[in-house]
Amino acid sequence: MCTKNNLSNDQGVVYKKVSGSYWVQAGDREIACTLSSHLIPAGPGATKHSSRRGQAPAHTDPIAVGDIVRFSLEREDSGSIIEVMPRRNQFARRSAVPMPGAHAFEQVIAANVDQIVPVFAAASPEPHWNMLDRYLVTAESFGIPVLVCVTKLDLVQDSEKRLDEEIAEAVAEYRRIGYPMMLVSALTGEGLSDLRLALHQRMSVFLGKSGVGKTSLLNALQPGLGLRINEVNQITGRGKHTTTHLEMFNLDFGGAIVDTPGVREFGLWDIHEDDLALFFPEIRPYHGRCKFGLGCRHIEEPGCAVRKAVSAGQISPRRYFSYLKLKANP
Ligand code: GDP
Ligand code: ZN
Repeated sequence: MCTKNNLSNDQGVVYKKVSGSYWVQAGDREIACTLSSHLIPAGPGATKHSSRRGQAPAHTDPIAVGDIVRFSLEREDSGSIIEVMPRRNQFARRSAVPMPGAHAFEQVIAANVDQIVPVFAAASPEPHWNMLDRYLVTAESFGIPVLVCVTKLDLVQDSEKRLDEEIAEAVAEYRRIGYPMMLVSALTGEGLSDLRLALHQRMSVFLGKSGVGKTSLLNALQPGLGLRINEVNQITGRGKHTTTHLEMFNLDFGGAIVDTPGVREFGLWDIHEDDLALFFPEIRPYHGRCKFGLGCRHIEEPGCAVRKAVSAGQISPRRYFSYLKLKANP
């Protein structure tokens, strides 16, 4: 497998793409590239990296930010991409439907991702746990680890730094399931050194709606970073499902970040309804143990092992309701 550390001279990592142009980082060189003609897709669905099950028309750009590519130089700092190396993984969402009757398609946000970092405010705005569950299910389905970041911590602490009970409970619940939860404040700096450690030498995709404090957090991690990312997001279009401009930013302390701007909706991509329970790690062990076996939807069937586990306190009712909500509205 190709990693950033064992690239040959003619290989690099795509760190920026703007409709048809790609910027490749190769060592300390930055090379502006176009696509070699044999890589340009012939039309919708012609991409090499189609959906996991290949049912829907795939997006047409064969290159994502984070891809490792081979290039041929035409000038000192420009050239063309001639090969895309196999991806270790990719992170995608379902596109908005551009017009009635059109198909939604897969939008690859980044390739070769080390972790997904959903950012939520502890307060103002109130954390939207169902939205977090949506991100978690998506990350699980792509097999990518998650690092949950709860910011504005200062807003939910009293003078003795005791945490608001409701937040503390939710955080404990996610930790029990196995998700790492970082509690930080851009205002006081609390938790930032731990967050830096967790981001160190990793490629992280940040997710979060505007207002949660992402810009402040990124600026606190590295001066100016939030502002640079916002410039990109303004071109990309806040809340719109466009990925014409995506960029990966290097962290001074080692590692890189891709941000996805103001995701208002985040559609699950390519997760079959019957598989949803598999992407809730605490529900997964019960899936298949119901009276109706794998045919149980865990909604109202008799002898449902999942609902029994909810009643027995082994699965939190809140996460179970999230499951039902995602089942009804993927
Ligand atoms: P973004 O839209 O997610 O990039 O959010 P911003 O970083 O612009 O922050 C939104 C609002 O929350 C601003 O008024 C910030 O001053 C405030 N804010 C951001 N981080 C913190 C924090 O850690 N603590 C507190 N109390 N306020 C914060
Ligand atoms: Zn069941």
